[in-house]
Amino acid sequence: MPEVSLERAINGPSQLTEKRPYDYLIVGAGFAGSVIAERLAAGLGNHVLLVDRREHIAGNAFDHLDAAGVMVHRYGPHIFHTNAQRIVDYLSRFTEWRPYEHRVLARVDEHLVPIPINLTTLNTLYGLSMTRADAEIFLAERAEPVAAIRTSEDVVINQIGRELYEKFFRGYTRKQWGLDPSDLDKSVTSRVPTRTNEDDRYFTDSFQMMPLNGYTHMFERMLDHPRIDVLLGTDFADVRNRMDYKQLIYCGPIDEYFDFCFGRLPYRSLRFQHETLQEAQFQPVAVVNYPVQSVPYTRITEYKHLTGQEHPLTSISYEFPCADGDPYYPIPRPENAELYKRYKALADETPGVMFLGRLGTYKYYNMDQVVGQALALYQRIAQEAGVEVMDRAVETE
Ligand code: FAD
Ligand code: UDP
Repeated sequence: MPEVSLERAINGPSQLTEKRPYDYLIVGAGFAGSVIAERLAAGLGNHVLLVDRREHIAGNAFDHLDAAGVMVHRYGPHIFHTNAQRIVDYLSRFTEWRPYEHRVLARVDEHLVPIPINLTTLNTLYGLSMTRADAEIFLAERAEPVAAIRTSEDVVINQIGRELYEKFFRGYTRKQWGLDPSDLDKSVTSRVPTRTNEDDRYFTDSFQMMPLNGYTHMFERMLDHPRIDVLLGTDFADVRNRMDYKQLIYCGPIDEYFDFCFGRLPYRSLRFQHETLQEAQFQPVAVVNYPVQSVPYTRITEYKHLTGQEHPLTSISYEFPCADGDPYYPIPRPENAELYKRYKALADETPGVMFLGRLGTYKYYNMDQVVGQALALYQRIAQEAGVEVMDRAVETE
C-alpha cells in the first residue's frame, strides 16, 4: 500500500496512530461520506477514518482556483437546490450562501433559447407572439398522448410532441447517455419540465444557492473535527486490511466492492475540457446546452456566473460524455435496476458494511438527496445506539 502521508491528510498520521482503533472506516469523501463522517464524529463521539482515492475532498462537488485564479468545478457545474429546510439548516453549519438561480439556454437552430422550454422558447423558435393560453393550445395540438409512459421518450412526446422532442431532447440524451431516450427510464427526461409561462429558471425549488466560498471550503469545515482523520490519494484496497475499524461505510461503486461478482453496473462517464479565455465573459448564462447531435459535447459551463467571482478572465468547461472513465452517472433503466437489486440483496446479508451515496446505492441523486440519505443513515445508527436525535437538522422527513 502507498505511504499514509501527512501531507495528504487533513489531520495528520501522528493522530492516526494515536487514534486507532477506529469506530468507522468511511470510503469516499464526497457528500455521502463527509456528512456521515461529520455526524458520527460530532454527533455520536465516534472516531472516524475517511479515505478517498482522489487527492482531494468534496467528491464530484470539488471546486478550486484554476491556474488563472478563476474558481471552477473540476467535475462540471454543481448548483445547490432543495425543498428541504432541514438540509439547508444542516449545511449552513459549515457555509454561508450566495443566492443564485440557475438559468440555462439551449443552442437550437440559429437560436439561443431557454431550456426548460417556456413561452419565450416557443415564441422565439416559431417567430410567434403567443400568450400562455395560446402556448397551452399549441403544445396540446403537438403532444402525442402515450397510454403507458415508461421511457424518457414517452414522457417528452406525450407532453410536447415529436418535433420539439427531436430539437431539445433526442440528440442531447443520445450523447449524454449513449442510449436513445426510448431505452432510458422515464425518470431521466422527467427531470426537465415544460412551461407555458416565462419562468426561465432551471429549478423551481424553494432554496437555490451556492456555498459562498465554494464547496471545498464547506467540506473543509465539515471535516475539521478532532475525531475525524482524512487520508487522500488512498484507495479502500490500501487500508481495507491494514486499519483497525469496527464498521465500514462504503460510498464507492457497490459492484466494485463485491468484485463485480454479478457483472458490472453500467455508469456513464464524462470528459471535461477546461479552458481559460482572455475575456471577461464568454456566454450570457452559466450553462449553454447543445442538443444537436453533430456537436460532440452536451454543454458549456462558464463558472463565474455560478460563483459571482469578479475576474478579468473567464474559465469554461466542455462536457464530452463517454463510456469509460470515472463513474459519474448510474444509468436508470430496468435491467440496471434489476442488477443493482442483486447487489443490494448481497449487501443486506453482508455484516459490518453499509452502502451510501450515488455510487454506493446506484441512484441518480442530486447533492441534497445524498445529504438527506446520509442524515437518515445517521439517525438510524443513533437510534440503534440508543441515542435520541434531538436535532431538527438531522431528522428524516
Ligand atoms: P461522489 O461525489 O461521487 O463521491 C464518491 C467518492 O468516493 C469519490 O470522491 C471517489 O473518489 C471515492 N471513491 C470511490 N471508490 C473509492 C475507493 N475504492 N477507495 C477510495 N475512494 C473511493 N447535484 C446537484 O444537486 N446539483 C447539480 O448541479 C449537480 N450537477 C452535477 C453535474 C455533474 C457533471 C455530475 C457528475 C453530478 C452532478 N450532481 C449535481 C450530482 C452530485 O455530484 C452528487 O449528488 C454528489 O456529488 C454525490 O455525492 P457522493 O458522495 O454520493 O458521490
Ligand atoms: N435533457 C435533454 N436536453 C436538455 C437538457 C436535458 O435531453 O437540454 C435530458 C437529458 O437526458 C439529461 C436529462 O434530461 O440527461 C436530465 O437533465 P439534467 O440537466 O437534470 O442532467 P444533469 O444535470 O444531471 O446532467
